[in-house]
Amino acid sequence: MTDFGGAVKKSEVYEIAILGIPFDEKSCFLKGAALGPQAIRRASTSKALNPFTELGINLETEATIVDLGDVDTSGDVDKTFIQIEEAVARILDQGAVPIILGGDHSITFPIIKAFSKYFHHLDLLHFDAHPDLYPDLYGDRLSHACPFARILEAGLIKKLVQIGIRAATAEQRAIASKYGVTMIEMKDLKVIPRLNFTNPLYISFDLDSLDPAFAPGVAHHEPGGLSTRQVFDLLHELEANIVGLDVVELNPSRDPSGITAAAAVKIIKEVAGHIIKHRQKKNRSPINK
Ligand code: MN
Ligand code: MN
Repeated sequence: MTDFGGAVKKSEVYEIAILGIPFDEKSCFLKGAALGPQAIRRASTSKALNPFTELGINLETEATIVDLGDVDTSGDVDKTFIQIEEAVARILDQGAVPIILGGDHSITFPIIKAFSKYFHHLDLLHFDAHPDLYPDLYGDRLSHACPFARILEAGLIKKLVQIGIRAATAEQRAIASKYGVTMIEMKDLKVIPRLNFTNPLYISFDLDSLDPAFAPGVAHHEPGGLSTRQVFDLLHELEANIVGLDVVELNPSRDPSGITAAAAVKIIKEVAGHIIKHRQKKNRSPINK
């Protein structure tokens, strides 16, 4: 069912674990992101692609990647958020890197709650058309438009860098400046920046950061976004120790050709390759460096 170009294995011991979160109850406009995990897995078939990344990492032979299936999202929101936190914590307990398939963007709050218990100094790189910094949306503080407001208020991370933004409101700009968020807006993005993070880095990737021409399978179409090429160039230039990734907001009902799911798969592959390459480099360098 799931293979990421043949890279996913069955193993008790692993470095990277894929986890699905079929949840869209906090989507304010269209439901459908709950079907995201299965669409991403389906698009990852080795019948269509190989396990190599662009930088030459073979995901099948250079690391052990497993798929732990989906979190149980059948309960109410409180219960589901606890299940998410616990499932992520179980992966972090193994010293492994979680790669999470969403689901709407509300899931990033319980995910980062789990991370904050393992990483006291965590940086966060957030790809999105929207800052997702509303104090609440229509009275809902757990909406998919609010996760980063909750994460900042709770002091769960050290640094937040947002990229791809092109739909910020005045209220969200004020919150961003209050918390010292670096907001890289599309209107200012002339060249792809070389980003460097000193703390362990979590990446949260909302697929609507991509231009709808490249990724139409999302609830909120916001023209003028990133190209898939720009994203891969940015990831290849990124200097960081990546400790987790979520790819959220895939809405398969708006993705008849599967092109958005294919983008999600390739983002996951390139990030997994980055993680493996970083670890290989670290292991080769002399002790204490
Ligand atoms: Mn979002
Ligand atoms: Mn968004």
